[in-house]
Amino acid sequence: MTAPETPPSRSAVSAVLRPLGYTGRVRITDGPLADRIADAAETYLGMSPDDVVHGFRLQAGLPAPGNPMTGWSSRTSQPTFGQWVSGLARLGVTAGVAEASQRAVDLVDAFAATVGDDGDARMGLYGYEKLVCGLADTALYAGHEDALALLGRTAEWASRTFERARPAASPNDFAGGRIGPASHARTMEWYTFAENLYRGWLAGADDAVREFASEWHYDAYWDRFLTPPPPGQPWDVPTWLHAYSHVNTFASAAAAYEVTGEVRYLDILRNAHTYLTTTQTYATGGYGPSELTLPEDGSLGRSIEWRTDTAEIVCGSWAAFKLSSALLKHTGEARYADWVEQLVYSGIGAVTPVRPGGRTPYYQDLRLGIATKLPHWDDWPCCSGTYLQAVSHLPDLVYFGDDDGGLAVALYVPSTVSWESAGSTVTLTQRTAFPVEDTSTITVGGSGRFRLRLRVPPWSEGFRVSVNGVAVDGVATPGDWFVLERDWADGDVVTVTLGAGLRVLPVDRWHPNRVAFAHGPVVLAQNADWTMPMSLPTPWEMVDLDAAFERGEGLRYAPVGVGTARLPLGELRPLADVPERVPYRVYADLDDPRIV
Ligand SMILES: [Zn+2]
Repeated sequence: MTAPETPPSRSAVSAVLRPLGYTGRVRITDGPLADRIADAAETYLGMSPDDVVHGFRLQAGLPAPGNPMTGWSSRTSQPTFGQWVSGLARLGVTAGVAEASQRAVDLVDAFAATVGDDGDARMGLYGYEKLVCGLADTALYAGHEDALALLGRTAEWASRTFERARPAASPNDFAGGRIGPASHARTMEWYTFAENLYRGWLAGADDAVREFASEWHYDAYWDRFLTPPPPGQPWDVPTWLHAYSHVNTFASAAAAYEVTGEVRYLDILRNAHTYLTTTQTYATGGYGPSELTLPEDGSLGRSIEWRTDTAEIVCGSWAAFKLSSALLKHTGEARYADWVEQLVYSGIGAVTPVRPGGRTPYYQDLRLGIATKLPHWDDWPCCSGTYLQAVSHLPDLVYFGDDDGGLAVALYVPSTVSWESAGSTVTLTQRTAFPVEDTSTITVGGSGRFRLRLRVPPWSEGFRVSVNGVAVDGVATPGDWFVLERDWADGDVVTVTLGAGLRVLPVDRWHPNRVAFAHGPVVLAQNADWTMPMSLPTPWEMVDLDAAFERGEGLRYAPVGVGTARLPLGELRPLADVPERVPYRVYADLDDPRIV
């Protein structure tokens, strides 16, 4: 068997690590992520295609069978239509759901019939940007060439009609829309537009689409990330901006890097990643209280005193996945999977799934005192689009191929992968109950010499590897790869001990005793149903955590302190396991516990 032929690429750069999810050769086979993928397939394939395009058909004066949708989609499904199409096309290949690929094609064709002869998609920039994504992905992942023709036609219309004001976002205009009676919705979040136009061109669309993309660069913001500040100094970047879209805009910088090969974009991506993960994120990987970026002055820690809308967790996870995926691909550095892992376990991986009818998770609540999981108050919000995209992207985050026929394992989840190494097909089967258990077992199918790289997570203490029961010497630096290069035989078994344990995570350096607890990457939530908040002697660094908690079943941790008879100290369990409406606490002031 020969390696499958790679189509000619328009990319100006070659990847250091190639993510394998979109080759269709990765499957997540078991566990909570597999359940989430299966549930998303069922929910989104359960939507009536006639309902989804109902509003578009009415707008175009066509017969419109089916029913109007609700919430954000009550007029048309414009706010998320393109993302649903994108997610279905992705699911088709990353999870092998053939019906999803076909649904993406059918929706594109039904929509195409509503587009005017002049290419009028009848959308503002916000909806059209997402449509472009859906068209690019239907071409890329479902092989539907007509989608590229539709992209060319509508992009020509957009190029003729879209406003070009492109104001940089500011605290008074935090999403860059020109606030005016008629114009706001047409330019909002314009700085996210280049990404999918570039991706459309990379997928084969006309050169005019590339040209149009280049008009939407956000240099005024991106360039502020060209150089990091001197050690100890704050970042010189504007703040109080719309958080999700100011992370999502870096996906446009990543696309600009792929298309132009200009290294400055890679520098911007690296520095933006450092900025975001060191100044903007909570323990869960979420960011953006009230959807805002924050100055480095303790605002992050203070934000959990008041608001319930701590992080737009679904859109936020998707934007972080894209930035991290680009950096993994173009730098090959293991540490760019760290933020992904946080969100997989405690961000999007901890939300109640989108339900049939459009009930959708949106904000993660990390308030002090008491917090709850609630769906968004409107059906089918933005996060109903990014939910399917992020969930369908999960298999692409697990395995990466390198140029020498080797493989890198970024996440420890039950899964399989196959790839070509020195002309022969090799498979790996990963079995694990991590994070409840601390090991993962990887079985090799096939043989040959290749390099297997295993990510050492940043939280790991005592990462160990054995092959066929024999311990392997190697360097296990948290945030880097552990490298195994050898002649592999069919049936070889690699056992990885991950070294996860209980951790204490202060929200920021201005609030050293305002902390969350985590087991490895899994953020724990304390039961807040008639309980006292956690407290510990401070400085907590001097406390023996093994003595302060009793580990129970799974990842449950019971504080050894007693609280009061009426208000005992509540037990901790993974945030992902907390049902909707049940009160919990992720953060606590250890030296000043508050009850309400
Ligand atoms: Zn959202």
